[in-house]
Amino acid sequence: MGSLGTEPNVLQVAIVGTGIAGLTAAIALRKHSGIHVELYEKATELREIGASITLGPNGLRTLERLGLEDCISDKVGYRGPNPISRFYRHWKTNEIIGEDFYEDVSEPLHYTARFHRGHLQQALLKHVPRDIIHLKKKLVSASVESEDYVKMEFQDGTTATADILIGADGIGSGVRKSFAPDFELEWSGHTAFRGIFDAALIEPIEGVPLDSTHWWGPDTNFFATRLAQNLFTVQGGIYADPQDPVAIAKFRDGGQWDKEADIQLLREKYVDWNPVVKALSEVTPNVRYYPNFFCGSSLPTWIFGGRVTLIGDAAHAHGGAFATGGSLAIDDAYALYLALMEALPASTAKKSSSKSIQRALKLYEDTRRPHAVKLLKVVHANNEMKTRKIITATQETDEELRARAKRGSNTTWLHEYDVVKAFEDARVASLKA
Ligand SMILES: Cc1cc2nc3c(=O)[nH]c(=O)nc-3n(C[C@H](O)[C@H](O)[C@H](O)COP(=O)(O)OP(=O)(O)OC[C@H]3O[C@@H](n4cnc5c(N)ncnc54)[C@H](O)[C@@H]3O)c2cc1C
Repeated sequence: MGSLGTEPNVLQVAIVGTGIAGLTAAIALRKHSGIHVELYEKATELREIGASITLGPNGLRTLERLGLEDCISDKVGYRGPNPISRFYRHWKTNEIIGEDFYEDVSEPLHYTARFHRGHLQQALLKHVPRDIIHLKKKLVSASVESEDYVKMEFQDGTTATADILIGADGIGSGVRKSFAPDFELEWSGHTAFRGIFDAALIEPIEGVPLDSTHWWGPDTNFFATRLAQNLFTVQGGIYADPQDPVAIAKFRDGGQWDKEADIQLLREKYVDWNPVVKALSEVTPNVRYYPNFFCGSSLPTWIFGGRVTLIGDAAHAHGGAFATGGSLAIDDAYALYLALMEALPASTAKKSSSKSIQRALKLYEDTRRPHAVKLLKVVHANNEMKTRKIITATQETDEELRARAKRGSNTTWLHEYDVVKAFEDARVASLKA
């Protein structure tokens, strides 16, 4: 296992987690000749698990910058025929009632794509040497030792050390728990039911749109899309008052992440919807629960002990809102790479002082944290509004629903975010400070 001293002239970076964030960070940091990366993952094998995940133009552009065109090609991700980011259809009539248009995206490879999370993970894995990935390594604690290095302890009793530790270990991050033990996640009241299956099952259904589509209804939504490699996925779900003990028992505690759910939950929820949605729910063979957790409050800092930082869901779990978690993780990884390149040039990486490492981590945090805080504010406001409506039993009128869809999601700032520009702004600001 990688530890300090194995390669004396390079900076040892440990990444915990081999999700989208951890793998992208490993691929990026390995381009820095003064850095050696080791990855630690709690899973016993790297299987194709997960349902669909969306990457917007920002994440796709960043993967392309890293030379990962093969990971975002149509063999791995699905793009519909129309260059439109999102289609919204009416739950009952099935007519298109809203669209999100691109503002500054013309390259087809950058059009929003939907992936099986496992396909994307496997594609990224091809760019990471197998011998730097350590499986069955669940991080249970980490500490910064006399400001000089980071020590990690794993569930199997082994330990490892590094100059820098990157927590890319997702929503329940063990790295975050080590340094911010009081930080809490909250259930939003939403639990999704997701199914993924052979696209041949939808062939008998007339009128399934070729474009990935969101159907908006008064109290819930439905999403369906083709995926690469002849797969199809649907996502429905419930919204409840997050304080309601019955909903908590059934959909928060009872509906653990990735646990098989009763397929009738999906079919009954959409029985009165338009014939396409109803038929899609009927052909879906099985679904799994995905309860929606998000940061109760933003972490006040992403830097711990001057040598540890967080990326991806570990830093800013936002409950999957706006389908932007994958792209956020990718842009975090790239911003961290830019910051390390800037503050620790390859020739001096190992000899870099703690101060240079801190400067790199600060540059990363200044680039990305304000963006995540802005997103979390929007997520909190939306969740509160949704909960208020549920508690007061306020039903959205059809007119209001149509007006909401016409306005669209208004998220160009998220999906067309430019991480290189954000980094440059943070860098210039740091020089003036
Ligand atoms: C199994 C799985 C399936 C998912 N499926 C979907 C999906 O279908 N749709 C969707 O939108 N999002 C899904 N997500 C979440 C989505 O991947 C993330 O929101 C997004 O890609 C950001 O990824 P991340 O790398 O920050 O975190 P994650 O993708 O959660 O990756 C975190 C990685 O860290 C590992 N890990 C966690 N704790 C430890 C620890 N203590 N020690 C060592 N390793 C640890 C995990 O096993 C995982 O490999 C899934 C996540 C996981 C783990």
